[in-house]
Amino acid sequence: MTAPELRVGIGSDVHPIEVGRPCWMAGLRFDGDDGCSGHSDGDVAAHALCDALLSAAGLGDVGAVFGTGRPEWAGVSGAAMLQEVRRLLEAEGFATVNAAVQVIGNRPKIGPRRAEAQQVLGELLGAPVSVSGTTSDGLGLTGRGEGIAAIATALLRSCR
Ligand code: MG
Repeated sequence: MTAPELRVGIGSDVHPIEVGRPCWMAGLRFDGDDGCSGHSDGDVAAHALCDALLSAAGLGDVGAVFGTGRPEWAGVSGAAMLQEVRRLLEAEGFATVNAAVQVIGNRPKIGPRRAEAQQVLGELLGAPVSVSGTTSDGLGLTGRGEGIAAIATALLRSCR
Protein backbone atom coordinates (compact mmCIF):
# COMPACT_ATOMS: atom_id res chain seq x y z
CA MET A 1 0.00 0.00 0.00
CA THR A 2 1.42 3.40 -0.96
CA ALA A 3 1.10 6.47 1.23
CA PRO A 4 -1.51 8.98 0.06
CA GLU A 5 -0.17 12.03 -1.70
CA LEU A 6 -0.52 15.01 0.63
CA ARG A 7 -0.47 18.60 -0.58
CA VAL A 8 -0.36 21.76 1.52
CA GLY A 9 -1.59 25.16 0.39
CA ILE A 10 -1.64 28.73 1.69
CA GLY A 11 -4.05 31.61 1.20
CA SER A 12 -4.62 35.11 2.47
CA ASP A 13 -7.05 37.94 1.90
CA VAL A 14 -7.72 41.48 3.01
CA HIS A 15 -10.68 43.74 2.35
CA PRO A 16 -11.59 47.25 3.47
CA ILE A 17 -14.35 47.65 6.04
CA GLU A 18 -17.45 49.40 4.71
CA VAL A 19 -19.53 51.07 7.42
CA GLY A 20 -23.10 49.75 7.40
CA ARG A 21 -22.37 46.68 5.26
CA PRO A 22 -23.53 43.35 6.77
CA CYS A 23 -20.61 41.56 8.37
CA TRP A 24 -20.04 38.02 7.13
CA MET A 25 -17.00 36.28 8.56
CA ALA A 26 -16.01 32.62 8.58
CA GLY A 27 -19.43 31.70 7.23
CA LEU A 28 -21.33 33.53 9.99
CA ARG A 29 -23.29 36.77 10.06
CA PHE A 30 -22.12 39.09 12.85
CA ASP A 31 -24.94 41.48 13.67
CA GLY A 32 -23.75 44.85 14.96
CA ASP A 33 -20.37 44.73 13.19
CA ASP A 34 -19.50 46.41 9.91
CA GLY A 35 -18.59 44.05 7.08
CA CYS A 36 -16.07 44.23 4.29
CA SER A 37 -16.65 45.63 0.84
CA GLY A 38 -15.70 43.65 -2.22
CA HIS A 39 -16.82 41.72 -5.28
CA SER A 40 -18.57 39.14 -3.04
CA ASP A 41 -19.86 39.18 0.54
CA GLY A 42 -16.46 40.27 1.89
CA ASP A 43 -15.91 37.16 4.02
CA VAL A 44 -12.11 37.29 4.04
CA ALA A 45 -11.86 34.11 6.13
CA ALA A 46 -13.82 32.12 3.54
CA HIS A 47 -11.80 33.70 0.73
CA ALA A 48 -8.46 32.87 2.38
CA LEU A 49 -9.65 29.29 2.86
CA CYS A 50 -10.69 29.07 -0.80
CA ASP A 51 -7.25 30.31 -1.81
CA ALA A 52 -5.49 27.82 0.48
CA LEU A 53 -7.55 24.94 -0.95
CA LEU A 54 -6.99 26.01 -4.55
CA SER A 55 -3.28 26.49 -3.78
CA ALA A 56 -2.96 22.99 -2.36
CA ALA A 57 -4.64 21.50 -5.41
CA GLY A 58 -2.62 23.58 -7.85
CA LEU A 59 -5.86 25.02 -9.24
CA GLY A 60 -4.90 28.69 -9.13
CA ASP A 61 -6.57 31.25 -6.91
CA VAL A 62 -9.82 32.95 -5.99
CA GLY A 63 -9.25 35.70 -8.54
CA ALA A 64 -9.02 33.19 -11.37
CA VAL A 65 -12.05 31.15 -10.27
CA PHE A 66 -14.42 33.87 -8.98
CA GLY A 67 -12.82 37.17 -10.04
CA THR A 68 -14.25 40.23 -11.67
CA GLY A 69 -13.99 38.43 -15.01
CA ARG A 70 -16.75 36.08 -13.75
CA PRO A 71 -19.69 38.47 -13.13
CA GLU A 72 -21.98 35.52 -12.31
CA TRP A 73 -20.09 35.24 -8.98
CA ALA A 74 -20.57 38.90 -7.97
CA GLY A 75 -22.10 39.24 -4.51
CA VAL A 76 -21.87 35.52 -3.84
CA SER A 77 -21.47 34.24 -0.28
CA GLY A 78 -18.23 32.86 1.07
CA ALA A 79 -20.12 29.65 1.80
CA ALA A 80 -21.10 29.28 -1.86
CA MET A 81 -17.50 29.90 -2.89
CA LEU A 82 -16.28 27.18 -0.52
CA GLN A 83 -18.88 24.79 -1.94
CA GLU A 84 -17.67 25.51 -5.47
CA VAL A 85 -14.01 25.09 -4.47
CA ARG A 86 -14.87 21.77 -2.82
CA ARG A 87 -16.58 20.67 -6.05
CA LEU A 88 -13.52 21.66 -8.11
CA LEU A 89 -11.15 19.80 -5.75
CA GLU A 90 -13.25 16.66 -5.72
CA ALA A 91 -13.46 16.73 -9.51
CA GLU A 92 -9.65 16.63 -9.53
CA GLY A 93 -9.57 13.71 -7.10
CA PHE A 94 -8.69 15.62 -3.93
CA ALA A 95 -10.21 15.45 -0.45
CA THR A 96 -9.53 17.94 2.32
CA VAL A 97 -7.65 16.50 5.32
CA ASN A 98 -8.03 19.67 7.39
CA ALA A 99 -7.79 23.43 7.09
CA ALA A 100 -7.12 26.37 9.39
CA VAL A 101 -7.88 30.06 9.11
CA GLN A 102 -6.92 33.03 11.27
CA VAL A 103 -8.81 36.34 11.11
CA ILE A 104 -6.72 39.45 11.81
CA GLY A 105 -8.66 42.51 12.94
CA ASN A 106 -10.32 44.36 15.79
CA ARG A 107 -13.84 43.19 14.94
CA PRO A 108 -15.74 40.93 14.69
CA LYS A 109 -14.69 38.99 17.79
CA ILE A 110 -14.09 35.40 16.69
CA GLY A 111 -13.60 33.70 20.05
CA PRO A 112 -17.20 33.69 21.29
CA ARG A 113 -18.40 32.15 17.99
CA ARG A 114 -15.39 29.95 17.19
CA ALA A 115 -17.24 26.64 17.66
CA GLU A 116 -20.12 27.80 15.45
CA ALA A 117 -17.74 28.97 12.71
CA GLN A 118 -15.77 25.74 12.84
CA GLN A 119 -18.98 23.74 12.52
CA VAL A 120 -20.28 25.74 9.54
CA LEU A 121 -16.97 25.72 7.67
CA GLY A 122 -16.31 22.08 8.55
CA GLU A 123 -19.66 21.04 7.11
CA LEU A 124 -19.01 23.03 3.94
CA LEU A 125 -15.64 21.35 3.40
CA GLY A 126 -16.40 17.93 4.83
CA ALA A 127 -13.25 18.16 6.98
CA PRO A 128 -12.13 19.78 10.25
CA VAL A 129 -11.56 23.54 10.01
CA SER A 130 -9.83 25.43 12.83
CA VAL A 131 -10.79 29.09 13.21
CA SER A 132 -8.80 31.59 15.25
CA GLY A 133 -8.62 35.34 15.62
CA THR A 134 -5.98 37.88 16.47
CA THR A 135 -5.39 41.62 16.34
CA SER A 136 -2.40 43.61 15.14
CA ASP A 137 -2.16 45.60 18.39
CA GLY A 138 -3.42 48.80 16.84
CA LEU A 139 -0.87 48.70 14.00
CA GLY A 140 -1.56 48.90 10.29
CA LEU A 141 -4.85 48.83 8.40
CA THR A 142 -6.32 46.08 10.58
CA GLY A 143 -5.25 47.85 13.78
CA ARG A 144 -6.81 51.12 12.66
CA GLY A 145 -10.04 49.32 11.86
CA GLU A 146 -9.79 50.12 8.15
CA GLY A 147 -9.86 46.52 7.05
CA ILE A 148 -9.87 42.86 8.02
CA ALA A 149 -7.30 40.27 6.94
CA ALA A 150 -7.23 36.50 7.03
CA ILE A 151 -4.59 33.83 6.46
CA ALA A 152 -5.28 30.18 5.88
CA THR A 153 -3.68 26.82 5.27
CA ALA A 154 -5.18 23.64 3.89
CA LEU A 155 -3.99 20.06 3.61
CA LEU A 156 -5.37 17.83 0.85
CA ARG A 157 -4.90 14.21 -0.03
CA SER A 158 -5.13 12.81 -3.49
CA CYS A 159 -7.76 10.11 -3.79
CA ARG A 160 -6.39 8.83 -7.10
MG1 MG B 1 -11.52 38.48 -1.02
